[in-house]
Amino acid sequence: KGCLYIVAMPIGNRDDITERAKQVLSAVELIAVEDTRHSRPLLQALGINTPLLALHEHNELKLVNRLVEQLSAGGTIALISDAGTPLISDPGFPLVRACQQAGVRVVPVPGASALICALSAAGLPTDRFLFEGFPARTSSARCDQFTRLKDAGMTLVFYESSHRIVHSLTDMAAIFGVERPAVMARELTKLHETIVSSTLGELVTLVSGDPNQQKGEFVILVAGAVQDTQTLDPEALRILAILAEALP
Ligand code: SAM
Repeated sequence: KGCLYIVAMPIGNRDDITERAKQVLSAVELIAVEDTRHSRPLLQALGINTPLLALHEHNELKLVNRLVEQLSAGGTIALISDAGTPLISDPGFPLVRACQQAGVRVVPVPGASALICALSAAGLPTDRFLFEGFPARTSSARCDQFTRLKDAGMTLVFYESSHRIVHSLTDMAAIFGVERPAVMARELTKLHETIVSSTLGELVTLVSGDPNQQKGEFVILVAGAVQDTQTLDPEALRILAILAEALP
């Protein structure tokens, strides 16, 4: 039987491609890419001349059956995104699900993802985190989304683009509070890589006041809510008091 490889690509610095990614991309019959114009130059620079097929959110559902047939007949296909790991805020989920359902082997070839890259350097707790992908597009939907996350006690991770970064940060500050610690990770692994650890209020001031800070790609990490004792229910407080007394 065939095999679908899910291959992570760099998120900026081309040297972050793995040896295994290069081997797999050279060996497969076909590489499904989001945008051939984006991926062809990078693959050519790596000396990879495997045929490409465009698979993006608009034609993904139509192509899935054809690709699963090719794989079931013994084909080998790699799926890549423009940057980072496929399926992480990128196409591929319907194809991978269909392969799993059809009994086609799916092999991950891991590498960069902006999410993990940002978390690893942000200095916020990483033991638990909630990845939200891109915030909603309209301010009212975003504020509803943030309101649902306001009391979550784990690090919140968002993707954002240059078009909406100021609007999203402004809504985050309004809902989570200007004092909430947050980290902006911009242009990771690229020339203008910037990681700012601050508060949401200060990030709004920094980014809205400097057009250069609005350029590029962003991961925004927001510290989880701290449970203050005022909001604990009285029964929990009563039990805490009893436990505190028993402590040495
Ligand atoms: N699949 C990708 C991954 O694994 O990270 C994410 C693709 S998503 C369509 C693109 C978003 O990822 C950008 O808008 C930005 O939020 C984030 N991103 C990608 N590359 C980045 C980088 N070098 N620095 C900061 N954020 C990045």
